[in-house]
This record gives sequence, C-alpha cells and structure tokens, in this order.
Amino acid sequence: MQFNQLAILFYTAYLLYICMMPSMKNIRELTLPELKEYFESIGDKKFRAIQTYEWLWKKNARSFEDMSNLSLELREKLKKEFRLLSLRTDTIQKSEDGTIKVRFRTYDDQLLEGVIIPTEKRITACVSSQIGCSLSCSFCATGTMGRIRNLEFDEIYDQVAILNEMCEFHFQKKLTNIVYMGMGEPLLNYKNVLKSIERITSPDSMGMSPKRITVSTAGVVKMIKQLGDDKVRFNLALSLHAANDLKRNEIMAINETNSIELLIEALNYFYAQTKNDITLEYVLLKGENDSLKDAADLVAIYRKIPTHLVNVIEYNQVSGLLYSKSNEETTAAFVDHLAKHKVNVRVRYSRGKDIDAACGQLAIKDKLSV
Ligand code: SAH
Repeated sequence: MQFNQLAILFYTAYLLYICMMPSMKNIRELTLPELKEYFESIGDKKFRAIQTYEWLWKKNARSFEDMSNLSLELREKLKKEFRLLSLRTDTIQKSEDGTIKVRFRTYDDQLLEGVIIPTEKRITACVSSQIGCSLSCSFCATGTMGRIRNLEFDEIYDQVAILNEMCEFHFQKKLTNIVYMGMGEPLLNYKNVLKSIERITSPDSMGMSPKRITVSTAGVVKMIKQLGDDKVRFNLALSLHAANDLKRNEIMAINETNSIELLIEALNYFYAQTKNDITLEYVLLKGENDSLKDAADLVAIYRKIPTHLVNVIEYNQVSGLLYSKSNEETTAAFVDHLAKHKVNVRVRYSRGKDIDAACGQLAIKDKLSV
C-alpha cells in the first residue's frame, strides 16, 4: 500500500472514531457512585472508581492514556466504553502586560479562546460558553460569527482547568477569579454553564468559591429569573451598554424583547432570591452612548438595581465594525458624572491589547491571525 493510501485509511479511521465518539457516554457525566457501580459491573474493584474520578477531576487527565495507575487493559476498556473529549491547547500568546491568551481546539475541530488576566490582587480567567454567539450585538466581534454550537459543561470546565495549570506555571499561584465573558451568551447555554460551575466549585475537583465566579449576560430576562429560582451562588454581570431602550435596541437586538424595565425587574428578583453581587457593564462607544445625558440615564437605572458597581469598559476596536472607543476627556466626564451622583464606578482599561485578548473580543478573526 502506498503512503498516501495509508494516510487516507488512517484519516478515515480517525474521522469514524471522531464521529462515533459523541454517541459514546461521556465519562465525566458519571458521579462517583455511578463510576463505582460501573467498576463493580465489570468485576473490577471499587477503588478503581476513586482513582479514575481523581484522574478526571483532580489531576485533569486529558485522555485515558494519562491514567497511569490503571492497568493498560483497564484503560483500553474505558476507552472503548466512554468518551473523554477534553480540549486541546492549540496556541498560546503572551501580552506585554502579562495577559495570556490561549486558543483551544475541541474534538470536532472548533476553536475557542480563554484568557488569563493577572492584576496586582487577582488572577482572573475569562472563559467562553459557546462557539460563536447568536445575539449579534453590533459592536461585538463574536456577534459577527453567529452561533456555531454550545460548549459542553466539560469543555467549559477544561478551559478553567487548563488556564489554572498555566497560571500555576507562570505565576506560581492558582486562579483567583473566573468570569464568563469570553465568546457566547452563557444564559443561552444555561445547563452546561451551571454544571461547569458546579464542577469548578465542587470540593472533589477545583473547590473554588462561587463568590469568585461571575457570569456575564447580555440580558436574558427569563434566565436571570431562573438563576434566582435555582438559588445560584455565583455573581452576575449585566452588559447594559446603553441606558435607554431606543439606544439599547440599536446596539443590542436582544433588548427588543428583553427591555431595560424587564431587566430591572429580573435583576431585583435575582437579588431577592440569592443576595449575590450584580455588576453593570457599560462599554463606552464614541458618539453612541457616552454623552452626559447617557450618564444621567445610567444613574437612574443604577438606583433601581441592587448593584454595587458599574464597570465602565474601554471599547476594543473590531476591524470591520464602525464603532470606536470614546476619547479620554469624554470618558472622564462620563465617569465623573456617575461618581458625583454616588455611583460606585470603576474604569476597566483593555488588557492584552497587543494580542487581541480582551474579554469580549475573543472571536473568529483571531483564528486566522494567531
Ligand atoms: N454574552 C455575554 C458575555 C460575552 S461578552 C454578555 O454579553 O455579557 C463579555 C463582555 O464584553 C460583554 O459585556 C460584551 O458586551 C463586551 N464586549 C464585546 N465586544 C467588546 C469589545 N469589542 N470591546 C469591549 N467590550 C466588548
């Protein structure tokens, strides 16, 4: 057989394997008792379940081959029975300011990105919840891609686990905070996002405090209320970005069915049910939402929401989109107005500019340029 025939054969076998994999049971969907039951059913010892579970959730094994204290035979058996579709690290970029952007590749060759953002007090990981996004906010790079698919809970978890390992390697510290502010709308992938957070916070895996996790939403009223009903323990950020419905409809189409008034009501409900922190995010777009009238409207909204903080965000120019960031004086006047009216406001300057690593700017164009 010639070399290229062999190559085609291997490639076909690989494709078949990839196609079959999603139909196999995901081993990370099994609880420890379920794993124990499985090992018993194949006549193996229960403590193998504990070892396997540790490989999955403490040692973050990327494949069955990694599970070195299980016999080769057992690893082969697991491989035939289950899938373990962990993300692979594709490319790593480091910014001058310490920010690290990681491009991940999924089992079906989709690309996504996560970022480590070190500051004096914290090291935050920004993670994606979907490949692409269905919301098409007009200033956002991800919005131009459309939604390709939801990320599975373990694909979200893997971003955190891999970024945490990198964080330990580069900064000799663990991640302190997680923000769901990468690609996608987390509340439109509700089940997987909540399950990923359950895993990140579970003492049998990373054991991070939910208070250190923030989910950012463009404002899906129904799901904000659902978070309240589910009594979640993590924080919420609302990407407000405009302080009246006319302007918000223009830049965030989701506002047409999830108006500011409905959002205010939903956030009050969320707070009443959970008492978790709510932050308002407001990206300043030159000539769009950065006037003093906009600031005054924002003050009025702030008063109606149980929030402790407005993050005014510097816009990252996206090539092909018409928006640009507000200039320094306009930003200062806007922030001043908020501060004078007793709004607790912080300005978030963009990080990792030289590598396009800012949260909310993790999109397809980077796939080509990394
Ligand atoms: N869909 C969620 C989370 C993803 S985006 C949400 O809308 O909150 C994370 C944040 O980055 C959002 O506040 C989003 O509006 C903002 N963002 C998107 N594109 C940006 C850009 N080019 N510059 C600055 N912030 C941006």
